Amino acid sequence: MAETVTNWAGNITYTAKELHRPASLDALRSLVAASERVRVLGSGHSFNAIVEPGADGVLLSLGALPAEVEVDAAARTVRVGGGVRYAELARRVHAHGLALPNMASLPHISVAGSVATGTHGSGVGNGPLAAPVREVEIVTADGSTVVIGRGDARFGGAVTSLGALGVVTALTLDLEPAFDVEQYLFTELPLDGLDFESVAAAAYSVSLFTDWRAPGFRQVWVKRRTDQPLAGFPWAAPATEALHPVPGMPAVNCTEQFGVPGPWHERLPHFRAEFTPSSGNELQSEYLLPREHAAGILDAIDGIRQTVAPVLQICEVRTIAADEQWLSPAHGRDSVAVHFTWIDDTAAVLPVVRELEAALEPFEPRPHWGKVYELPASVVRGRYPRIDDFRTLVDELDPAGTFTNAFVRDALGT
Ligand SMILES: Cc1cc2nc3c(=O)[nH]c(=O)nc-3n(C[C@H](O)[C@H](O)[C@H](O)COP(=O)(O)OP(=O)(O)OC[C@H]3O[C@@H](n4cnc5c(N)ncnc54)[C@H](O)[C@@H]3O)c2cc1C
Repeated sequence: MAETVTNWAGNITYTAKELHRPASLDALRSLVAASERVRVLGSGHSFNAIVEPGADGVLLSLGALPAEVEVDAAARTVRVGGGVRYAELARRVHAHGLALPNMASLPHISVAGSVATGTHGSGVGNGPLAAPVREVEIVTADGSTVVIGRGDARFGGAVTSLGALGVVTALTLDLEPAFDVEQYLFTELPLDGLDFESVAAAAYSVSLFTDWRAPGFRQVWVKRRTDQPLAGFPWAAPATEALHPVPGMPAVNCTEQFGVPGPWHERLPHFRAEFTPSSGNELQSEYLLPREHAAGILDAIDGIRQTVAPVLQICEVRTIAADEQWLSPAHGRDSVAVHFTWIDDTAAVLPVVRELEAALEPFEPRPHWGKVYELPASVVRGRYPRIDDFRTLVDELDPAGTFTNAFVRDALGT
């Protein structure tokens, strides 16, 4: 490539022979039909080689396509283009008095790239961000479009698809009436005697943060919908100042706290859309595990916290309701997600990742598809009961392997 293209964190430099930014759907179709190997680059917020097409492949950015966001207020749906980010989608949806059920920690990520990897927010009743998707439009290897909606037997593989089926040019999502959220922060939640189920269910979305330098959690972020009852939070003390989850970082980048009510899209993410959340000097790992084992999982991490803490910026614990996408890390399991923002030193971080994975192994972790992990591909595959169905879908939609890469081959065992 003439230009150097990296992911957001800068730990991956793509080796593709070309980067294309088609400005129209027709141009995109022609490009795809003329290429032997293609991978789509979303907003580049993944931390591993999931996007990498290889040196003989083409990288396709949808950033130059019109940023289509078509709200159907009567049907309460939105059709969103394949390159659009959540910040833009949320702003446009809210303008119609409508809402998405949940958001990730930051709104800067693309919708298609997020649902492709099983990206999620928090809340015991909230599925991953893919949950409201009702239809996907995919440009396949010959340049034609396939539309797969709920009710189609292939739908379970069509949304959280690792980019392996084709170029997602549009998604249709279900919406609900707009709602307000109040965000309250608490500090120093002890691990000893933690009633995880009650804490996690205390509000619509709850996140626990710790640096593991001491047992327990330094912060708890509680996001309450104002149309739901206000439950108490007796387990920790209210924060006395505005906070950023990472110690020492400015709270001004974070969404409004102290219970000031505000629209869903300005409270559910931790970070404001108008700020760059951080400089990208980080790596991330995350594992989804059965929520029923949350206490044992947190004890297992606490048991190795002296190994984890030196390379850790912050750990976040969230919950996700089980979903049906075959490759969703929350597939069929109400999940607890343990996320790690590491320092940006791959050599120092990877041994710790391996030790962490060994500690979590009894609980059968499924790694986030977009983050750093070291678990063998065969082990990860074994944790997806519908992986054969996904392989069959890939064979049907992409028989020549135009949209495959080393990451996908590993994931599928092909
Ligand atoms: C600061 C930061 C915060 C994060 N917070 C969260 C969080 O709160 N929760 C969470 O679960 N994850 C989180 N993540 C991880 C992130 O959501 C995922 O890595 C997600 O995949 C990023 O979307 P993207 O568009 O940047 O994807 P990319 O990394 O660009 O691509 C991911 C995958 O999607 C495919 N893809 C992208 N667009 C298309 C398309 N149009 N058609 C076909 N395939 C496509 C790519 O080929 C690739 O396989 C965070 C990451 C960062 C850097």
